Amino acid sequence: MPELHPPSLVRALLWRQPVLWVNPHWRAMTGARFGGRLGLSTVEATERQLQQFAPLLIRLFPELQDSGGIIESALYPADGLQRTLARSANVTGRWLLKADHALPIAGSIKARGAFYEVLLHAYQVAHAAGLIEPDGDMTTLASPVTRALFGAHEISVGSTGNLGLAVGILAAALGFKATVHMSVEAKAWKKTRLRARGVEVIEHSGDFGEAVAAGRRQAEAIRNTYFVDDEQSMALFLGYSVAALRLKPQLEQLGVTVDEDHPLFVYLPCGVGGSPGGITFGLRHVFGDHVHCFFAEPTACPGMLVRLASSSDQPPTLKDLGLNARTEADGLAVAKPSELVASLVHSLVSGIFTVSDEDLFEDLYHLEVTERMQIEPSAAAGFRGPRWLLESDAGAAYLANHGLSAERATHLLWTTGGALVPAEEYRGFHERGKGIARNQWI
Ligand SMILES: *Cc1c(COP(=O)(O)O)cnc(C)c1O
Repeated sequence: MPELHPPSLVRALLWRQPVLWVNPHWRAMTGARFGGRLGLSTVEATERQLQQFAPLLIRLFPELQDSGGIIESALYPADGLQRTLARSANVTGRWLLKADHALPIAGSIKARGAFYEVLLHAYQVAHAAGLIEPDGDMTTLASPVTRALFGAHEISVGSTGNLGLAVGILAAALGFKATVHMSVEAKAWKKTRLRARGVEVIEHSGDFGEAVAAGRRQAEAIRNTYFVDDEQSMALFLGYSVAALRLKPQLEQLGVTVDEDHPLFVYLPCGVGGSPGGITFGLRHVFGDHVHCFFAEPTACPGMLVRLASSSDQPPTLKDLGLNARTEADGLAVAKPSELVASLVHSLVSGIFTVSDEDLFEDLYHLEVTERMQIEPSAAAGFRGPRWLLESDAGAAYLANHGLSAERATHLLWTTGGALVPAEEYRGFHERGKGIARNQWI
């Protein structure tokens, strides 16, 4: 039997029972330690760089004019969804939605990280060729000269879908050759859309980890090829983290206080870990111990949970637990999480819960009915978070240990993808969710 803490976890995971695991490695911010000088100043420096790239993004994507070239999503109250999903009287507090499913251009949470890494690389290639200086005008990177240069360079990435879309769209817009290595879970429409943009799509019969490994190998062998490495990219991680800085004024605008008496709970779908990890890193640096970040993973694929709940330096694989990582949540279909992210969030994340595919579709449907928003299954993974926290023994223990009152809490559900889902595809999600929701009410 694989070893996990608590030991009862093994049985629950094996039987695919949804669970909430509370992180025993959690530390107050004053005790948290990171490698090097990584901290709030790193997140702020990343935000300044993105500001510097903003005019370039407007040049490439004129629809970003209104947002000043900044890729950001809105924060909404979710009263309707709260009324539907919070069935018991115990579920108090206020629910909000962070609408990354509608992030411009890429339509998923991957946009911040992927765009940051591709922009940095474009700058570095142009800088090495003597075409731009650090404080230069970044719109130069959209000039005919840099375009010709980028045409001799390639950017590649391994992806279950959305990272490939984000990297591929921007790389192609800048004039790079772009290649996306896709795993079996990748949806056909994501491949079609990339190919329509001139991106080369290479399909692998293996899982996400194998697609990444194949892409990494190929990039190493080919000159002038840069690989966006989802399993070990600091640039992706930092690109994601800026969401925390931007959330602060959005909360203020909605009149939401975050302090000792008003805890903020954030529920983030987790695949390889980069996007929830980067955001958690940013949030803990901005809100300290008043923010509590929980990751959500499919019951078929709890890679990060197994990694963090194992005390062994050789954590069990999903296979050891009899799990096959097959899930309709393609964005979360990652068997092995990023080691880099696991080590960075080890003491920052409050816990991880799992969710069945059925629940994803049901919740996606409730969101459509109550808030008129359309998301993909992965993006609904966090919706059971408030109930885990407020209605389970593990959740009650977490609140008690941290001395938290749920009365004045804010629960933030992070919707991570969906805007680019074709109508036909969405109809399938809708029908499946509706069928499940109907059965629930009988
Ligand atoms: C990629 C993705 C996630 C998870 O991000 P990771 O960095 O892989 O952990 C969540 N939701 C959607 C829709 C995604 O595409």
